Amino acid sequence: MGIRDMLVVPGLLVAIALAGCLLAFQPRPFQRASASVDEAARYREAVTALATDSRDLRIAGTLRPNLDTKTRLIIPNKCQAEGEAEIHAYALSGGVEESFIFFPALCLWIEIGYDEKKHSIRLDLDFISAVQTQHRSFTIYHVHPRGSANLEENLPSYTDLITLALINGAQILKPDFNVNHRIVTQLGVTDYEFADKKRVAYLIEYYRKSGLKGFEAQNLAYEYMMHHHRKAYHLEMMRCKKYSGSIQQQLAACSPLRTEAFIVSFRPHTADQR
Ligand SMILES: [Zn+2]
Repeated sequence: MGIRDMLVVPGLLVAIALAGCLLAFQPRPFQRASASVDEAARYREAVTALATDSRDLRIAGTLRPNLDTKTRLIIPNKCQAEGEAEIHAYALSGGVEESFIFFPALCLWIEIGYDEKKHSIRLDLDFISAVQTQHRSFTIYHVHPRGSANLEENLPSYTDLITLALINGAQILKPDFNVNHRIVTQLGVTDYEFADKKRVAYLIEYYRKSGLKGFEAQNLAYEYMMHHHRKAYHLEMMRCKKYSGSIQQQLAACSPLRTEAFIVSFRPHTADQR
């Protein structure tokens, strides 16, 4: 099927259910303010999306799930390793999924999950879009807090990969755009990204020139939802299962998983984190 046949009518693919960085600069943690009101004001300045957020901001000391849709957790003064360790500790509890945006330059985490369930979560795409008007470098984490006995639980679901296409496809033509996607599981941390960013940029330009400006990412997601892409990812998972050893050893041995569309890389937690 040619590209022209795959173009999606604007609006057709707007609703997709969403299941679930190492940067070169030095993180600069916030200094704690004496008054929490002052502290909240500074976070709203650092991430202006918080200033127009429909949820009330709540400052928390640890990364944990928040099922209250009226509030949004913000977890300051925590850089990457410490945050990942806390998500890992939570993953071991076997609770519901949760998702966070992490800003490495600020050592700041903001919760972005909706409808948190044991096997799924929706991301707050409106909030992510608002963040992207100000920030171009951040990481979107989510946790798979399920048992470690299943290899697939340690990898992105295909819906996770489509979520990446929706979020990054819309921004990929912008210079300095660097949004990473990462899952923390009981066994390790998994990164997933486009396999060929030049190809993605070409497709996004193509959709734009075809009169689909504003719907480029939905068309990209539609392209990547096609059967041959899904099958290729499934085959990569099957390839992992052919390795011997524990699931963690299988994942380490077969990583990265690579298809025409996506690359998925697994790294185990260090020994003292298990
Ligand atoms: Zn997921």
